[in-house]
Amino acid sequence: MLDLASRDIKFLPGVGEQRAALLNRELKIYSLQDLLYYFPYKYVDRSRLFHVSELTGNMPHVQLCGEIRSFEEMGEGATRRLVGHFTDGTGFVDLVWFRGIKYLKNKIKLGERYIVFGKPSSFNGRVNIAHPDIDAAETLQLGSMGLQPYYNTTEKMKRSGLNSQAMAKLVTTLFNLLSGQLLPETLTPDLIIKHRLISLNDALRIIHFPKNTDELQCARHRLKFDELFYIQLSILQYANERTKKYVGHRFSKVGEVFNRFYSECLPFELTNAQKRVVKEIRRDVNSNHQMNRLLQGDVGSGKTLVALLSMLLAKDNGYQACLMVPTEILAEQHCATLRRMLGLLPVRVELLTGSSRQKERREILEGLSNGAIDILVSTHAVLEENVQFLNLGIVIIDEQHRFGVAQRAKMWTKNNIPPHILVMTATPIPRTLAMTLYGDLEVSVIDELPPGRKPILTQHLFHNRMEEVYSFLHKQIALGRQVYVVYPLIKENEKLDLKNLEDGYKHLCNVFCDYSISKLHGKMKPADKDAEMQRFASGETQILVSTTVIEVGVDVPNATVMVIENAERFGLSQLHQLRGRVGRGGGQSYCLLVTDYKLSEDTRKRMEIMTSSNDGFVIAEADLKLRGPGDIEGTQQSGIAFDLKIANLARDEQLLQYVRNVAREVVESDPACSSPQYRIIWEHLRLIKYRNNWRWGAIS
Ligand code: ADP
Ligand code: MG
Repeated sequence: MLDLASRDIKFLPGVGEQRAALLNRELKIYSLQDLLYYFPYKYVDRSRLFHVSELTGNMPHVQLCGEIRSFEEMGEGATRRLVGHFTDGTGFVDLVWFRGIKYLKNKIKLGERYIVFGKPSSFNGRVNIAHPDIDAAETLQLGSMGLQPYYNTTEKMKRSGLNSQAMAKLVTTLFNLLSGQLLPETLTPDLIIKHRLISLNDALRIIHFPKNTDELQCARHRLKFDELFYIQLSILQYANERTKKYVGHRFSKVGEVFNRFYSECLPFELTNAQKRVVKEIRRDVNSNHQMNRLLQGDVGSGKTLVALLSMLLAKDNGYQACLMVPTEILAEQHCATLRRMLGLLPVRVELLTGSSRQKERREILEGLSNGAIDILVSTHAVLEENVQFLNLGIVIIDEQHRFGVAQRAKMWTKNNIPPHILVMTATPIPRTLAMTLYGDLEVSVIDELPPGRKPILTQHLFHNRMEEVYSFLHKQIALGRQVYVVYPLIKENEKLDLKNLEDGYKHLCNVFCDYSISKLHGKMKPADKDAEMQRFASGETQILVSTTVIEVGVDVPNATVMVIENAERFGLSQLHQLRGRVGRGGGQSYCLLVTDYKLSEDTRKRMEIMTSSNDGFVIAEADLKLRGPGDIEGTQQSGIAFDLKIANLARDEQLLQYVRNVAREVVESDPACSSPQYRIIWEHLRLIKYRNNWRWGAIS
């Protein structure tokens, strides 16, 4: 059997050096196998004939059978064209050619039957088909033509003649060359029979040249199965190995600090969801294994408290804890919150950020290495080599999607025994994505908000209604409430954005001259940022004008109105994060999304979703469907190339679930990866891990 993966694409007849270079560069097709796995993105049914009377201007490709009654040459210069008046007895449609006019007039005989294939469009209120394929009716065996594949190609490729048709031809050449035997089977006969799959070779042939849609479904199913199965198998097998390899610190007792905090300092009852999650965490840290847990909970669901309780468990068992957050503002807030909540309990909480002063910093480093500090709240600053703990027992990573993969991995090396890891995310990750990205982590969910929260009322408005917005803000501030006004800040046009923010700030200062306004953006000095944030948090200022630096974590319960300017420039999950800054106290909260009048279809949908749902999970699912998983924050940083070729995390949730179970069965029944029954599978796994450079270790 030919080794397709190592056979260079340039040796395929019809390719050669130049086209190979294009295929390499444009589609990352290097080998025959890459071509084989370059699947069509759509198919057109060439066994089906349409009637002319059915045609509209916005149909996909159609096929007609009939005759041309007459030709007409029209237009001048660039618009010179040949029009064939075509009918099948149900109506007339114009076939239009701008090139090859003379040739066509000679070739096509009036009154003879032809099969016409092309895409209808509207021109001057009439339906026509430009540059259709046209073949004499008796030369085409429609029944056996099946579905015609369409391949995505780039502009550069099309300019060099490598269009979809040319790609189809290359694939045909490849199949002829290989005459049937393409690739070795990747699943065991047992699995194939048990899960009613077709063979890999059949699936590959059918995916390129299906006869009908039933057959195509089977092929797609088989190839998706393969793709998802091997990702899941790889994750589960990695998790299995890790559990065996790493022992964890054991927090066996619930001690004095935890109990005193619980009974003396906790100002409210935990929600049931919080209780459940704390229990799950306690079970993990009291086993002999290192905890690797992902905690998902919508904004405002009370994750900080869960983090604190987990850190107190560490303290009671003689360990230190570290809470890692993505921004300095957030680090300071968390540090203050923790200190406030702990009151007089003997727990030392310290803050370490990039802007900690030298002297302070030295003291903190010392406190960490001699064990005097119990809890460190920090940013990236904690990752530096010289930050050493005496006995780090647990690391909690808040708002995790902001941290890169490598950074998380670094925390592992702060001890001989790796600390327990709790990753908290407020951007709920859809289940399918979580299973793929964090498939080796246990997942806890806080699916309940603290009692007494009123749902935030969200409204979408156009710019021309700003006067109304201002008068609404006036009323709210008069009631003693505070307001956020957020402007976008995107790296690419930072200058312009900052100007928008400054202009907005000045304008607001005029409109709200009786009140005090804070301003906050990432370009400010850390000390100034703190001061402004502090002024707002303490109620000294009524309005905070800001960029998205307040997106994560900031907690000012008295702020109840969020105005988002140029809301069209934010993604769904970002909008939801921002909205999460309000609705944290008991008062009714509002979120006003202000946009331009002209909106794309996509933006309109985003606004619709935001105004109709407050549920982060619903929003995350919608986001996944709108944008596709490749764009979701976090996937780029995952360290894994997630270019799924055929499966789709938004659409194939059920299959993913199913396949994960199959993979789990395999790992459980052959944990040593050595049973001859599964040899094919383990060998294939090794091969694709090597090829794709999958290293799960790096992502948790
Ligand atoms: P997030 O999950 O977004 O990090 P926080 O931990 O910041 O949420 O909590 C949001 C607010 O809810 C805080 O002001 C916190 O004190 C409060 N809170 C947390 N848990 C409860 C609870 N069980 N009952 C009432 N309020 C709570
Ligand atoms: Mg938080």
